[in-house]
Formats: sequence, C-alpha cells, structure tokens
Amino acid sequence: MLKQVAAGVLIHESEFCQSNAVVVQGRSGVLLIDPGVHGSEMDCLADDLSDSGSTVVAGFSTHPHWDHLLWHSRLGAPPRFATALCATTARDRLSNGIDPRRLGIPEQVPLGLLGLVTGLPAESARIPWDGPHVRIIEHQAHAPGHAALLIEELGVLVAGDMLSDVLIPMLDLFGSAEPIEDYLAALRLLEGVAGDVDVLVPGHGSVGGADQMHARIDQDRAYVHALRDADVVKDPRVGGSAEPGWEWVSDVHAGQLLRLAHEL
Ligand SMILES: [Zn+2]
Repeated sequence: MLKQVAAGVLIHESEFCQSNAVVVQGRSGVLLIDPGVHGSEMDCLADDLSDSGSTVVAGFSTHPHWDHLLWHSRLGAPPRFATALCATTARDRLSNGIDPRRLGIPEQVPLGLLGLVTGLPAESARIPWDGPHVRIIEHQAHAPGHAALLIEELGVLVAGDMLSDVLIPMLDLFGSAEPIEDYLAALRLLEGVAGDVDVLVPGHGSVGGADQMHARIDQDRAYVHALRDADVVKDPRVGGSAEPGWEWVSDVHAGQLLRLAHEL
C-alpha cells in the first residue's frame, strides 16, 4: 500500500528490513527509487500504480547493494539510473553471478532484473526525467557511488542507507580505503542540505521530519566517532535481532559488534 509522505511523494514499505520504495510523481509518469524487495510487494506496487493510472517513466537505485537494485517486470522497462560508480560497481560484482543463499537473500526476491542500471555521467547534478528536480548528492559512505536524493521543491530527502532510525551506520569496509572518513564526509554533506529538508525518507526505517534530520545525523556521527576513537558504543539501535541479508561481525576498532552490509 502506498503512503503519501509529501505532495507527490509516496512510499511503499517492505517487510524486509523496513525497506522504503519511493514514488515521485512527474508530469508523464512516476520516478521509482529503490523499487522494493519481495516480488509480491513489487507486484502490489505495480497494482497501486496502475490503479492510479501511473506508469513508471524512470527508476533509480541509490547504491549497489542487492536490496536496492531489484526490479519487477510489471513495473515496465523504463531507464533505470544510478551514479556512474554505482552502476560499474554493480556490474562488476554481478559479473560472476551471485549466490542468493550466501547473501541471505530471501526466496521471495526476484533476481532476474537485478542490477540492470545505467550509470549517469559522472558528477551528474540531477536525475534526467520530466518531474520535480531531484538533486543527486553522491558520496562514498556505505557503498561506492551512493546517492542521496534531494527533491528540492518538495523538501524531501531520500537518504538511501543513511540516517536510519533502525540500522546503525554500516561502513563500506569492502569498497573504501577510509571507511570512517568517508562516512563522516557524507554526514557533513547531508548536514549541508539539512535546512532544505522537511521530510526524510531513509532506505530502511521510519520517515522523519526536519528535527529527525539533525537528530539522526548527530546520532550517526556519535556512533562513527565512537568506532574511530575506540570508545564504547552506546546506541539504542545496537542489539536488535539479525535479519536475513545482514551479518554481525566483530569490529576491529571498538571491539563492538558492527552490523555490516554484505558485499552486495
Ligand atoms: Zn539497504
């Protein structure tokens, strides 16, 4: 079921890790960001869109992890965009196929159209589509070529896998030489646009308002600082049960449990 979070912006929440698919209404159809996870959920989303007379005219994947690279044939075959680095990373990592069981991908997930994204020219400022301007804020936290998307005129930030109220910061230990510095730099970038954000939509977790933008940046920064400084991590998000698709590993910096995304 689609839920409106701002004028012309709707979300569809998955049972998998509270993933949020985001629909943005344009002039001739919708932009679909991180379409969803389970096949039945994307099927339901396709029903909701066709009931409202909408077609998908563009897709976007915020970053090259499998739960953000999915698609369903019923959503049509529009261009599916990503940053250049996201697209090349996805292509490289998928070139030898993937092992769904090793990655903890549930059986209900359709993998046939996984990762078929087109990289936008490097440093593209906006998603090319006929709708509200969507600014691309690219950074290297969490995954290579990760994009946060700011729908400027609506004051909506689609954060991808940052600023979640349910998942702690997941550093990119596979793709980054400086994962802590990259994460802090990304938080600074997001802080730089915080004044323009009325609605924050994380890739996983609850939608928040402007106050949550600052609260989550502060909370995430405190967590990353604690990792960097080998401090005790006190974060209410640590200690939940592990869902499929994620694993807990010992973190070398703090001796704490750090929840990491798999390499895809
Ligand atoms: Zn994710």
